[in-house]
Amino acid sequence: MKEMPDILWLEEIRKEDIAAVGGKGASLGEMSAIGLPVPRAFVVTSHAFRRFLIESGIEKTLFAGLANLDVEDSGELEKAANRAKELVMKARVPASLKQKVKEAYQQMDGGRMVVAVRSSATAEDLPDASFAGQQETYLNVKGEKNLLLAMQKCWASLYGARAIYYRAKQGFDHQSVNIAVVVQQLVNSEKAGVMFTSHPVTGEPLSIIEGSWGLGEAVVSGSVSPDKYVYDQRSGKVIDRLIANKRYKIVSDGDHGTKTVEIRRDQQDAPLLSDDEVRKLATFGKIAETHYGVPQDVEWAVVGNEIYILQSRPITTIKTIAAASPTHDAGSSKILLQGQGASPGIASGEVVIIRDVKDSGRVKEGDILVTQMTNPDMVPAMRKVAAIITDEGGMTCHAAIVSRELGTPAIVGTKTATQVLKTGQTVTVDGEKGFVYEGRLEVPREKTKATVAAAAPLITATSVKVNVSMPEAAARAAATGADGVGLLRIEHLILGLNKTPGWFIANNREEEFIQELYNGIKTVLDAFYGKPVWVRTLDAPTDEFRNMAGGENEPVEHNPMLGWRGIRRDLQSPDQFRLQVETFKRLWDQGYDNLGIMFPMVSHPSEFTRAREMMRGWGVDVEAATLGVMIEIPSSAILVEDFIRAGIRFASFGTNDLVQYTLAIDRNNEHVAGMYQPKHPAVLALIDSAIRCCREHGVEISICGQAGSEPPMVKWLVEHGITSVSANIDAIAKIRETVARTEQQILLESARSRNA
Ligand code: PEP
Ligand code: MG
Repeated sequence: MKEMPDILWLEEIRKEDIAAVGGKGASLGEMSAIGLPVPRAFVVTSHAFRRFLIESGIEKTLFAGLANLDVEDSGELEKAANRAKELVMKARVPASLKQKVKEAYQQMDGGRMVVAVRSSATAEDLPDASFAGQQETYLNVKGEKNLLLAMQKCWASLYGARAIYYRAKQGFDHQSVNIAVVVQQLVNSEKAGVMFTSHPVTGEPLSIIEGSWGLGEAVVSGSVSPDKYVYDQRSGKVIDRLIANKRYKIVSDGDHGTKTVEIRRDQQDAPLLSDDEVRKLATFGKIAETHYGVPQDVEWAVVGNEIYILQSRPITTIKTIAAASPTHDAGSSKILLQGQGASPGIASGEVVIIRDVKDSGRVKEGDILVTQMTNPDMVPAMRKVAAIITDEGGMTCHAAIVSRELGTPAIVGTKTATQVLKTGQTVTVDGEKGFVYEGRLEVPREKTKATVAAAAPLITATSVKVNVSMPEAAARAAATGADGVGLLRIEHLILGLNKTPGWFIANNREEEFIQELYNGIKTVLDAFYGKPVWVRTLDAPTDEFRNMAGGENEPVEHNPMLGWRGIRRDLQSPDQFRLQVETFKRLWDQGYDNLGIMFPMVSHPSEFTRAREMMRGWGVDVEAATLGVMIEIPSSAILVEDFIRAGIRFASFGTNDLVQYTLAIDRNNEHVAGMYQPKHPAVLALIDSAIRCCREHGVEISICGQAGSEPPMVKWLVEHGITSVSANIDAIAKIRETVARTEQQILLESARSRNA
């Protein structure tokens, strides 16, 4: 590599400079070079990153840790990724490099500018497009210290598990992959949106512009209906205008990320853009299209009289799809199947039917995985696919939980997917509505992925926490700005290793088990630094262990859901419990006092007391530790006061189980899914009385079952006094909004009744 500077300003960059500044940096440089108004930016080059690796002395250790790694072994992969990231985060950035970054930042409004810090990965001699989206971006960064931290985090994200997996699969040598960091003025737009520089289906010279008030993410995420303008480049006229009712906008919220606010009444129905603005935007679009030679999909923003172009990329894929199947939009396409939409997003791909886990090697990147029901040992395959469809299951089954965390669209409980669909067939999956369509549909770009809420847009009195099962989801979970983790299911950390806890014990591999658990939990604790994280002790039914090493020693139960799981198993298997407690102890000793422990499937206070006494016996200061229970069995709701007397510090409704045990409805059985009702009066009565009791005693009462991700239920819970709610990653934004709205309503009503 020829010597290059540590810092390059956009004006100094051309598209050939990919090796120095990555794809993102090069394309921004190119855009500014052709005269598009790109927000100001500089790039910390890949050379600077290399220099950091060498001068900090971590290079050898870092790459040795990645050599000969079996990336299909998700436990190993996660471990190696954590080690590598930690190495990068702990290493010292050379002083001279720090100085250069600070000096460059000083030149942006005297070091006061709010910037976005984006990773821009690159491989020597290779276009980068394939790395897009695998490394991190940090928005709203202000101040030298935060900037340097965000830069180092971007570097570390080059060694995320997904990125490592992807590179290994694509045959990239980790050493040849570099990363640059783009530091760019964050445009606090008054209005923003997207533009197609030509008609995306017919290719006619029409610029199609969509936009709304506030930040562009409202339009990109599809959370508002935007205005739409069509500009005919031949006549130079706006030929169509659709002015939407725009009630909300997303705006920056200082250090807290973004927030959603209501738009002033007089602006709601006002046209967003003047004809002059539409014309200017269309002109910029044309410049980009002419330069790149293909129609572009452009993101734009307006502040005062300034128009900014934020991004430009080809829309050729949409054209190809449309040309191949011109009638395929959801309106006219054949619906092949329906099930429960379990994880939002739309994806198309080829079906691969997996009848036995042993065949999951056949699954390729981008396929649609179709199976009776997923199992923990299928997770490596689930990571690769574009969408997941199952015959069985409901919103709380394994496939649903894991898909939501991976951000992969999923439909569960279709009953017949494995019979109706054929391997090799092309389908489109709508994981929100629960439909499987024939063929490849034209999909609005913003709908292709589940969008995660931006950090903390609303402050609520009721804490809104997030559920996590896999450490790789920790960063996405933290990015929602959630107030903590209300449930960390640790089964997934262990089951991913494909060995039962009993196997580790029988083979004298206890330390390995502890390490795995330790690393996984620590990743989540680190992502939620200073916020409470409730880790739940093991709760896997025996049938989930069956296919793993050691699974042959698991008892065969007629009814595993009602069987040897949760705290009852730990109490009878002291070794298994001891290893978990040893892990927690090490974390507490490391100073992670945000760690709380929650016991699952408790039915009597004596189980809590016995578990606590065992912990005391193993040296835990149980008086200082935050210990609580799940309320999943009617008996524990009924006896909650006795639990409080026994010393629980918190309780959390596991409604997934509480509903099934109250109503005798198997949560994973699609035939009775229609009768599975979290708002059944009997369930609500149990919840109501337990909330009252906890409130009377000042004990935190929360929910971590799926019902906590459903707005009508959450409204009811807040009205009935719940003190915190823990939702799935994809539901945080709407749950936070529901909580805020309900709290406001309560305040309003009490003010009204006072004045009446
Ligand atoms: C529950 O029962 O609601 C719960 C959160 O636990 P799980 O889904 O893991 O059984
Ligand atoms: Mg449960």
